[in-house]
Amino acid sequence: MKTSIATVSIPGSFAEKLRAIAKAGFQGIEIFEQDFIAEEGSPREIGRMIRDHGLEIALFQPFRDFEGLTGELRRRAFDRARAKFDTMAELGCDRILVCSSVHPEALGGIDRAAADFRELGEIARDYGITVGYEALAWGRHVNDHRDAWEIVRRADHPNVGLILDSFHTLARRIDPDSIRRIPADRIVFVQLADAPLIEMDLLHWSRHFRCMPGEGELAVTAFMRAVAATGHDGWVSLEIFNDQFRGGRPEGLARDGLRAIVALLDDVRRTEPDIRADLPEIPPRVPVRGVEFVEFATRGQEAEALSAMLAAMGFSHLGDHVSKRVELWQQGDIRIVLNREETGFAASAWATHGTCVCDIGLRVDSAADTVARATALKAEPFRQPVGPGELDIPAVRGVGGSVLHFLDEESGLARVWEVEFRSRPGAARGDAGLVRIDHVAETMSRDEMLSWALFHTAIFEMTKTPMVDVIDPDGIVRSQAVASPDGAVRITLNGAETHRTLAGSFLAESFGGAVQHIAFATRDIFATARALEAAGFAALPMTGNYYRDLKARFGLAAEAVERLARHHILYDEDAGGAYFQLYSRPFENGFFLEIVERRGGYGGYGAPNAPFRIAAQKRLMRPKGMPRR
Ligand code: MG
Ligand code: MG
Repeated sequence: MKTSIATVSIPGSFAEKLRAIAKAGFQGIEIFEQDFIAEEGSPREIGRMIRDHGLEIALFQPFRDFEGLTGELRRRAFDRARAKFDTMAELGCDRILVCSSVHPEALGGIDRAAADFRELGEIARDYGITVGYEALAWGRHVNDHRDAWEIVRRADHPNVGLILDSFHTLARRIDPDSIRRIPADRIVFVQLADAPLIEMDLLHWSRHFRCMPGEGELAVTAFMRAVAATGHDGWVSLEIFNDQFRGGRPEGLARDGLRAIVALLDDVRRTEPDIRADLPEIPPRVPVRGVEFVEFATRGQEAEALSAMLAAMGFSHLGDHVSKRVELWQQGDIRIVLNREETGFAASAWATHGTCVCDIGLRVDSAADTVARATALKAEPFRQPVGPGELDIPAVRGVGGSVLHFLDEESGLARVWEVEFRSRPGAARGDAGLVRIDHVAETMSRDEMLSWALFHTAIFEMTKTPMVDVIDPDGIVRSQAVASPDGAVRITLNGAETHRTLAGSFLAESFGGAVQHIAFATRDIFATARALEAAGFAALPMTGNYYRDLKARFGLAAEAVERLARHHILYDEDAGGAYFQLYSRPFENGFFLEIVERRGGYGGYGAPNAPFRIAAQKRLMRPKGMPRR
């Protein structure tokens, strides 16, 4: 199979689109007539410009409202087709998409449409062009690929075939397995798009909400499996219309597109062994076993404040790096690394963002396989000079410019703490019962959310939860979690739209997407709360109204609510179990820490509590709009 993307999917000028598409590694493009009309050069020059980027023009589109017309309208439809064929000959493109008619005068009738296509096929033959017919989900008479296929079958012309588009099939809830009955040599072209499941008008949904395969909720993999089962070995292309993408960065979107299509074809190949994908073998999705460490770039007073907070939460400063100003703080299985180096990656992260999480270490089975899959999916490898006595730990750039390191038992990388750190005997203090990292919460601008989720779900064995809206008093923050099946690694993604929300002001302060909070798990939140109070930890104070509401909402006993209120513990329930949360006060830039206890199978992150927590945090932060320095 060859990979392509429609020029409409990528923002920017035509030249910017081509550069980004070629750089990402696509083999071809669908040229959209709109893009083409807007360009200055002749079709011949534009065709050359595209080929100079190493790209083929895989498809010319769209040709609308062709079939089912009569009289003068029908004659004009054929004239329009000839004009397109002339342009295509100049461009150097031999495949055209004809989408099913929405013309008010189109009559319908399978045989009438088949006759139109047979005649069009005759003209196309003279040009050496293949016509592909696509059923639009909102087509006037044809809105189902099974009907489009019947028309193509009856047209019975070698220059007329079928175009399949996952959106049109899946949006109408048509069983994609019906594709398995179509012969591969009649499938001219395959278009892929995903979308979130929202109830709305099909045309509006398609024009504004399509997204890359894996970014939405449609069964694109099942669709592509059915296509692969036919033996299709031609073009597979992304056709994405999305309002957010139109304002995005060409290179990032093209890279996400390639990441999505490679991950999808890899999934298909694993389930449909007959697939003829001309793609290199890549390791399967990577199971993640846990968060091995979280590293902060920090300096000066900010470093002192962070150390004091960690100490008050029961962490011990257990080790120092053999050659660098890097400290290891630990409690249970949680390792926090504080990096005060003045050169290297952490130093530049600090210079850009101030105190921030610059690096996260994930425990995996094979670090080498992880990097192989990540880089095959266009993640950027990360390297910095390895000092004397240091291990060379494989890493890639994560989203938002941070770094992800991968540690495994297999290659001895998990021994980094013994190898690179000198322990501080006698430094261990009584802990507060924190055992592991429950989740890491990252904040980004809302239009980056799909990209961040795709990064995690394409590379790792992680799935995403549906998006939820979190109400900030000053706006809405969209939130979605990606997690491993056993919950060993959970990452929440929070998309802010306005700088007035807590997440949005953090985003502005940190100059780009970053970790805004880390939640530590305890097995007994009340024991932890008592230990923290004894250590001088100041929890985020919650209001009496919050606890009165909680009592009514869940029908809790007065003593239970009183106990929660005494320690400023927040509470939530779902069908699986119960959830307890305790928050730190926010740092100046809006970063904070959280402690949670999950009981039973509670699967969420306390979203119903977020508005009250955010309001409490905002009360403690400086007034809106006051600059930090
Ligand atoms: Mg389409
Ligand atoms: Mg949280």
